[in-house]
Amino acid sequence: MPCRKTEKRGQKRKNGVRFIFYRIDSAHRTLKKEFFTINMAQEYLGKSKINNLPRLPLEGSIDLTYCCNNNCQHCWLRIPPDSSEKKTELTFTRIRKIVDEARQMGCRRWSISGGEPMFRPDFAEIFEYLTGNSASYSINTNGTLITPKIAKLLKRKGNKMIALYGATKDVHDHITRNPGSFEAAMRGFRYLKEAGAGFTVQLIPMKDNYHEFKDMIRLAESLGKHYRVGAAWFYLSACGDKERNAAIKRQRLPPKEVVELDKPDLSYEESMKEQYNQCGKETNDKYLFSSCIAGRRDFHIDPYGKMTFCCFIKDSSFRYDLRNGSFQDCWENFIPSLTTKVKVTEEYKKNCGSCKLRKDCRICPVYAYLEHRDFNQKVEYLCAVAKENHKFKENWQKNHRRYFKIADITVQVESDLPIKDNTFHPKFKLFEVDGPGEDTISIRHHFSLPDLSGKDLGREHYRKPPWAIYKNNGSWVYLGISPTLGDKSLHRIAAFNPDYTRGRIYNDKEEAFIKGGLHSLTLFPSDQILLARVLADRQGCYLHSCGVNFQGKGLLFVGHSEAGKSTMATMLKGQAEILCDDRMIVRRQKSEDRSQKTGFKIYGTWSHGDVPDVSANSAPLRAIMFLEKADEDRIIPLEDKKEITKRLLSCLIKPFVTADWWDKTLVLIDKMAERVPCYVLRFDKTGAVADILRKL
Ligand code: SF4
Ligand code: SF4
Ligand code: SF4
Repeated sequence: MPCRKTEKRGQKRKNGVRFIFYRIDSAHRTLKKEFFTINMAQEYLGKSKINNLPRLPLEGSIDLTYCCNNNCQHCWLRIPPDSSEKKTELTFTRIRKIVDEARQMGCRRWSISGGEPMFRPDFAEIFEYLTGNSASYSINTNGTLITPKIAKLLKRKGNKMIALYGATKDVHDHITRNPGSFEAAMRGFRYLKEAGAGFTVQLIPMKDNYHEFKDMIRLAESLGKHYRVGAAWFYLSACGDKERNAAIKRQRLPPKEVVELDKPDLSYEESMKEQYNQCGKETNDKYLFSSCIAGRRDFHIDPYGKMTFCCFIKDSSFRYDLRNGSFQDCWENFIPSLTTKVKVTEEYKKNCGSCKLRKDCRICPVYAYLEHRDFNQKVEYLCAVAKENHKFKENWQKNHRRYFKIADITVQVESDLPIKDNTFHPKFKLFEVDGPGEDTISIRHHFSLPDLSGKDLGREHYRKPPWAIYKNNGSWVYLGISPTLGDKSLHRIAAFNPDYTRGRIYNDKEEAFIKGGLHSLTLFPSDQILLARVLADRQGCYLHSCGVNFQGKGLLFVGHSEAGKSTMATMLKGQAEILCDDRMIVRRQKSEDRSQKTGFKIYGTWSHGDVPDVSANSAPLRAIMFLEKADEDRIIPLEDKKEITKRLLSCLIKPFVTADWWDKTLVLIDKMAERVPCYVLRFDKTGAVADILRKL
């Protein structure tokens, strides 16, 4: 079920882009990681919208039964197939009523799980009703009970997660304690393929199968297009049985492996901090679940019709009996009443409540309850995992993250591969800073391309090699396409949030990164592709120009190639600080004094021409000069605003252009033409032009 703790997603920033989503599947104990699907971008943005909506029950999870034909070593919920509770499960008629009531109140998505949901003889009818009455669904199953008929039903578009507990019959059946379960699961996969129903293989790593985990991955790859890794750690049983808990504990992986399997994503977590409470990370001073309940738009229903706000809450006093009440009453009265049910104790304050590792820890009081039957205690195993998490993050900060500042914008660069001193060309050293700034954007490099087959990329807005650009629910997807006709291969995929402040870049190869000396942070041919987009929102733009700081005056020499920009930089060397000889950034400055007209600043960039001198510095813009090579040195003032605008626009660097980008940039150019003294500068190669500039 969706859970904000494990759902590392959500998003802090309204416009954040997040392409890794996790969800808890209560029965199969999996933390599902969906790696870059475009649908996720939609879901991501959808989440943002959801969190801005009034408190409505938008997403439901339902466990159809806790019976299961398997009897897994790590299972926290399963009851035997012949258990007496089976008789008290909700009937199909009752489920229909609940689904109808939930739908009336806004429910648009269901997650179906168990036990093994297909263990119910009426599974097909329930599935048809649930999925027919919701906009989307997900289902978790062990796959062993899939029949050709069920496989056909599962063709309905939704997320189908099929658990895999081993790469071999022996190991798989040892985990499930159900001889023949491996073959049955393989048969299930086959039926799904024959029916053309898409699915995701869900690998469940644990002590007894970890030795063949790589083989499990290989098997998953051979079974279908998508796989994901389930929860890297196990919580204890719902029933609290000692033997059962001991069996679960035996399957827990060492903390280091847990972190290796579920590596923290720092930039995501940081962005989360700004917008949403992470699941389990927020409690108020007095009550443990008040923040969680206030923020949630989903609910959980167990097989017996008991409803509450979280699938992990098993204490019956936290559950509302829908058979003796209404969905609406539960949602509007009962669940809110739970906000003050569990008081924070001194024990909690002493441990998790004041813990320095809190932000590195996966704890939620519900796990403490499963561990100790006490919501307020800490979980030692999670303390050990938190320590490893912390170490991982420290290493990440040091070796996988760098910051560069350009035009008062800090670019945080992260990479799955370590960033070394020689990764980026030495010129970037001048722009490197120690940490984030007031205005920070972030990019993250990955080194394999996600599988986009079957993914909805949204509407295509642009196609001309090397890029095809799509917009999907506000986010931008850039595909690096080949110029060769008929060649459909992609060399790069990038996804940006709507305002381009967060991006993930998927590179097809890692060689260039490892070799080092890179000339752009994005690994695109030029960082302008990203920065020119970002600048428009900050009253800035890139111009084909050389910029210098000449005795405290920012002078901008504008012109296309061969206009003499590098020549000008060479002639002024030693007399002025060269900011860049080929590409400069101009930004309008906010004036503290409202009576004063706003001014402009020019900023050096790392995109130089023949003259390699660059600078991260800036200077107040005093004059714009349109270069003309000549046999004389002469400066001619330009008064015609239209003429100035035309000249500036012809040297404006345009990224992928959208209407809003144009609107903002045109206003900026218009102001520059109006407020900055502009000239035509004719110059010869003697260098005497410096005298003219000195007098400006
Ligand atoms: S397949 Fe295993 S983990 Fe899933 S419900 Fe059955 S026993 Fe539990
Ligand atoms: S109780 Fe904990 S795990 Fe459950 S939804 Fe709330 S924060 Fe998440
Ligand atoms: S479980 Fe341990 S590490 Fe986690 S917050 Fe509590 S005391 Fe800290």
